[in-house]
Formats: sequence, C-alpha cells, structure tokens
Amino acid sequence: MMIKCLLLLSILPVYASAVSLPDPLAVPGGIVHIPLGDAKLPMPQVFYQNHRVLVTQQNFKWLALVGIPLDATLGQQNITIKTPKGDTPISFQIMDKKYPAQYLKIKNKRMVNPNAADEKRISDDRIILNKALSTWTEQATVDTDFIPPVEGRLSSLFGLKRFFNKQAKDPHGGLDIAASAGTPIKAPATARVIDTGNFYYNGNTVLLDHGQGLISGYFHMTEIHVKPGQQLKQGDILGTVGKTGRVTGPHLHWNIYLNNTKIDPALFIARDIARLDARNK
Ligand code: ZN
Repeated sequence: MMIKCLLLLSILPVYASAVSLPDPLAVPGGIVHIPLGDAKLPMPQVFYQNHRVLVTQQNFKWLALVGIPLDATLGQQNITIKTPKGDTPISFQIMDKKYPAQYLKIKNKRMVNPNAADEKRISDDRIILNKALSTWTEQATVDTDFIPPVEGRLSSLFGLKRFFNKQAKDPHGGLDIAASAGTPIKAPATARVIDTGNFYYNGNTVLLDHGQGLISGYFHMTEIHVKPGQQLKQGDILGTVGKTGRVTGPHLHWNIYLNNTKIDPALFIARDIARLDARNK
C-alpha cells in the first residue's frame, strides 16, 4: 500500500504539469503551434507581424502559439525569435479555409449605416478597444484550459463573411453562443478584467487578460458584474447574456485574441463544441 502511494505521488506532478492547449489549425483565423526548443533554456521572445507571441511549455519544450489573422496571406509566413545575438526567423505554412457567407437583417438601420455622430462614437470606441487589446502581461504560465463561457446554442460560427441588409461588412470575428437574456456568463479560465464599457456595435462589454497577449472579449451583455483590475477564477460570473449593440437577438458574442489578432474561439473549447452544436438540432 505504501509503495502504491509513493508511486502515485511520483506520478501526480507529471499530470499536474500537463497543459491543455487550444487546437492547432494553420489557416486564417487559426492558431499555429511552433516548437522552440528545450524549456530548460530561458523563455524565448517571439514576434509575429511586430506583435509579441504567447510562448508556453509542452513536454518540456517551449512552444509558440501564433494567432493568424483572417486576412493573412496564404503560404509561407515567419515568426522571429529575438535573442541578444540577433533575430532568427522560423517559417511555417498557412493553408486556405473557405468560410461561408451569412446574410442578416438588422431592423435598426443606424446599426448598418451609422450617421456622423454615430461614426464619431464608433471611432472613440475603437481607440478604447485598441488600447485594451494591446495589453501584454508578462507571466510565466498562461491558463489556456478554457471552459465555454455560456451553456447555449452555437448560433454563428467564427469567420463567416457577413452581409447586413445585403451590404458586405467585416467577417464575423467571434463565436456566437445564443442563450436567453440573463443567462450567466462565466470566466473561461483564470483572468484579470482589463476593461468594461458600453460600445456602439458591441453593447455592454467585458475584456479579460489571460496573460501574454491572450485576451477574451464578451459582447452584447445585459449586466456587467465585474470591475477593471478584478482577478477572476475559472467559472466566476462576469455578467449576463443580452442583446445590447448590433444584434438580431440575445446571445454572447465571444472573441479571443492572440498577438493582437482575433482567432476562432472554438479552438479553445474543442471538446465542448459537439455538445453546444447539438443544441441546434
Ligand atoms: Zn457575433
């Protein structure tokens, strides 16, 4: 019995150090995993398109998690590893992904064709959002083991080419989870609240910092229950689902950013996607 316990104790730390990472998908809107060498060496500083890249550990090796923008050029791309001796590029390939189109009808016409005052507000919003999204918190470990923020129905997938009242707009930069207004929204992992606010398109919004440029955003909320600077554990309630901003009904629009780039949130909750999608049937 004693031997068994000792064995268990010697095995446990190995499991405790196993990291749950987002799925790799080398396409626009996806995440590329790039191994960087022995984790006994100091953590490398990695850049992609002039933005710092998240570096984590897997199997005692450093691993870069690179967010690929939806408008990325297909084919060969590079990250740069910065060392005191100089810069080293590492190349990787981006494959194509065809994202389908989605046509939506918005009743509030100013949400499709804003007037001059609305445009001013939208550009003010963008300054606040861009500042929040440029947050970089240096931390040794980043919690990438996410749970879905809402138990609901997947109503719009990431990357859809969008048409509002037949006008082409930006592609869908997040994952929509539909649930009735008032449904609690949970922190998907350990995080700190960067900012909260009310924005023209996004409505009531919370932005969370998970460290090293991994940021998550929660839009169209009814109520916000957190404050900037607040530390959250996985499962803590941020607020509730709503229909504020540009929406066709109550849902959570959920964004995830890596290296200042919107990527597909489904990659962070791969094990939950089938369950949430089954609610569509
Ligand atoms: Zn959305």
